[in-house]
Amino acid sequence: MILRKAFVTLLVCFAALGTRTAHAYQFPEFVEPYFDMVDETFDKESAFNTVAFVEKYWRVVGNEGFDKSIYHVVEKLKSAGFVEESAAGSSDRLVYRIEKRPLKNPTWEPVSGILKLGSGDEILNFETNFNMMAMHSYSTGGEKEFEVVYVGEGRNLDLNQDLTGKVVYGETSVNLLFNEAVKKKGAVGVIGYRLPGYLKPDKNVNSIQFTGIPRDDKKKSFGILLSHQANKKLKAAIERGENKIRVNLETKIWESEELTLVAELRGSKNPEERFVFSAHVQEPGANDNASGVGALAEVAASSARLLKAGKINPERTITYLFGDEIVSTRRFIQEDKERAKNIKWGMSLDMVGENTSLTGGTFLIEKMPDPGSIWVRGVEKHSEWGGRPLTKKQLKPHYFNDLTINVFQAIGKKKNWTVKFNPYEGGSDHVPFLRGNIPGVLLWHFTDQFYHTDGDRIDKVSAETLGNVGTGALVIALMLTENKEELGDYLLDDLNSTLNARLADELKLSEASLANGGDKTKEVDILSTWADYYMDVLETTSDIVPKSGDKFSKKLEITKKQLEVVKARMLKKLD
Ligand SMILES: [Zn+2]
Repeated sequence: MILRKAFVTLLVCFAALGTRTAHAYQFPEFVEPYFDMVDETFDKESAFNTVAFVEKYWRVVGNEGFDKSIYHVVEKLKSAGFVEESAAGSSDRLVYRIEKRPLKNPTWEPVSGILKLGSGDEILNFETNFNMMAMHSYSTGGEKEFEVVYVGEGRNLDLNQDLTGKVVYGETSVNLLFNEAVKKKGAVGVIGYRLPGYLKPDKNVNSIQFTGIPRDDKKKSFGILLSHQANKKLKAAIERGENKIRVNLETKIWESEELTLVAELRGSKNPEERFVFSAHVQEPGANDNASGVGALAEVAASSARLLKAGKINPERTITYLFGDEIVSTRRFIQEDKERAKNIKWGMSLDMVGENTSLTGGTFLIEKMPDPGSIWVRGVEKHSEWGGRPLTKKQLKPHYFNDLTINVFQAIGKKKNWTVKFNPYEGGSDHVPFLRGNIPGVLLWHFTDQFYHTDGDRIDKVSAETLGNVGTGALVIALMLTENKEELGDYLLDDLNSTLNARLADELKLSEASLANGGDKTKEVDILSTWADYYMDVLETTSDIVPKSGDKFSKKLEITKKQLEVVKARMLKKLD
């Protein structure tokens, strides 16, 4: 027995070494069956195909590309068994509805665009630069020749200069140029060049980051955005004394309506309680955010397959929201107070398909505000997207942070996939949840060197990444909505090991800081805040209404007592 056992262990070690332990990784007992089931079901190629469909369109709420993307997802849901809500019976658990609302502002769609020098040399074409036209630009009504006036960085725009009928070109935002030159000085249009360093413009010389000019149906003007390469060409022409350009833009602007797709897997026992996923449809990018749409559509379809196979029975409802970023999520929370009361968790899928070998960056979980967003030190690091230190008042203690991180890190170990997290920054659909006092996290990637640029196309998307993110998202939703007996135990054990590890790390950092002459009051404050934060986090575990009733509350009390001891011991160490 022993020999055989020793031989088997040896085999496992070699295998582990070979695959850097990927396959040998042991999931927490409670998570493993969920992972195996979802990993087997989740069809990453199908998710990728949805991304490939959606990314073809320059999506703005109300436009053709946005609507086609919504209807494409509806077809996928229907074939997975979702029924239109108004036609659904009470026994139907898979339903969807498309909500339609008139749009306050007209929608916009780019059709074609060419920018040439006076000499006829083409320097930009919509076919190769999807983002060359600023949103809300009007058509030029065919090719038009204009005098171009270069204003450098546009800071000290000489307002005495007559700009009527001219195009103003500056190395700054088209928004600024528009407000100065078009609104105030009668220019017909603007050309702008400004790209943040993390997009590596001198390497990605054709990248253009999308942005818009103000809507102005009186001026009916336009904005053209330059790539690094196009900027060089135009500037060189200006320096040669060539101040004529030819512009031919075609766009569509029309009154339209907003579509929001709300699909649900209705809970069997507490259908009013919800886990809400949200993926925004608008914006022109493949990773931002056709990837979220593709991953979430497959999360929904996978849940349907598992339900139909009788492998899952969520007691709570899972909602899959596809719409206009922030707007549709906020409305889903605000328009029905009763419903909002029972939204227990929110998860935003935004930029979830990066092939990081091309885009750079890593998969990130953006946490709800914890003390790591007040004192950004140790493992905490803001992304290049940017974040500022928060205050204690903004803390949002909840177990959803660590639950999400730990499940994804487990998947990362299993799949040899890098999983990191960042302190709260904002800027996606997790924000309306937090504003509604609902636990909300963001799944994304950063730094993506093609972020919001026309380099963000299908070649930068990885089916593998979509699979990993989608699998993790569905595993977490099922763990919380199925509400199995063991959930409470798992949550407390998982939290207990996480908080002890974190407090130990923070203590080391504080001791190191004191050793370097750091301020003791501050270090005591940091450690106390972390310990108090976790005490509050432990409190939130009761929101899963654990089936193990007394057993759970006893365990919770013990865990809290242990934390008090750890806190006291830590602070003592600083003396
Ligand atoms: Zn996005």
